Amino acid sequence: PLCMNDAVAENRISVCVRKRPLSKKEVTRGEIEVVTIPNKDHIILHQPQVKVDLTKYLENQKFRFDYTFDENSTNELVYRFTAQPLVKTIFEQGTATCFAYGQTGSGKTHTMGGDFTGKKQNASMGIYALTARDVFRLVSSDYRRQHLTVHCSFFEIYGAKVYDLLANKAVLRVLEDGKSQVQVVGLKVMDVDSEQMVLELINQGAAVRTAGTTSANSNSSRSHAVFQIILRQGKKQWGKFSLIDLAGNERGQDTRDCDRETRLEGAEINKSLLALKECIRAMSNNNSHVPFRSSKLTLVLRDSFVGDKARTVMISMISPGLSSCEHSLNTLRYANRVK
Ligand code: ADP
Ligand code: MG
Repeated sequence: PLCMNDAVAENRISVCVRKRPLSKKEVTRGEIEVVTIPNKDHIILHQPQVKVDLTKYLENQKFRFDYTFDENSTNELVYRFTAQPLVKTIFEQGTATCFAYGQTGSGKTHTMGGDFTGKKQNASMGIYALTARDVFRLVSSDYRRQHLTVHCSFFEIYGAKVYDLLANKAVLRVLEDGKSQVQVVGLKVMDVDSEQMVLELINQGAAVRTAGTTSANSNSSRSHAVFQIILRQGKKQWGKFSLIDLAGNERGQDTRDCDRETRLEGAEINKSLLALKECIRAMSNNNSHVPFRSSKLTLVLRDSFVGDKARTVMISMISPGLSSCEHSLNTLRYANRVK
């Protein structure tokens, strides 16, 4: 049995939260944990034990989501309750979408792309690869599905521009045709026939994504990375799974006191994350007007928000430390509104 959780597959939108463990560095500098997960659908942000801004944190903030994953959860477990139930959606000619949302350093890339050990990425345990693994299992296990072929694309949205991560960051245009189909013109869509091939593409794309920066986080935190697994029958698209490692949400908030370029970047990220929230809400309320044109991110993901065969899961990542308290509260509030 592949599908562990039918509720996620039935809901148009599910919202989950994942708390990462404190890092060694944080432990060393005496960082205090302020987040607990008392059971599998609650999360509590505790009142700081030192004075930060007591007007803001007078009481513990308690939130409820479809699932909450504590610091002992593995990627495999998170996958099983988030993206895995949506794999069947694409075999039923639907569109599945999984977002990783949260501040920089909260665990988005670890969850989606796999962990970095030094400079090298262990992609096999990220949600990109786990999803691909199950797609191949399903294609090959059933003769009724052997008419389908599997394909991948990987691109990045930065400052309202689309860059192809499988074509050395070639800049791509996005066009909407008369039938309101949205196309990323010239996007490389690779034929893949094994999990191994997908792993190579993930590593290749991730390397291109972080190239030119000294730290793995400094550049990728400002862009949205979109990894897509596409099923086709002949030349026609059958189903599509979009897996998205979003830009750090703090990049859209604190836009004062920095240079012009950083401010513009922040404004663009803010705009796209607001648009994303509005689109998901419209979709989950069965609202016929989905404002997908209000950002490049939501435009290229149009199919994720329209049609009754679209299923979305959002995983909001939380850093557990006191110094992240304010960002964590913002993340939880955003996740709460999306539902
Ligand atoms: P983001 O992509 O949100 O900026 P990363 O995924 O790069 O954050 O995570 C920041 C650091 O924390 C990385 O070194 C990563 O390996 C580590 N990390 C994140 N989530 C976990 C987790 N669940 N367990 C262990 N380490 C984690
Ligand atoms: Mg990242």
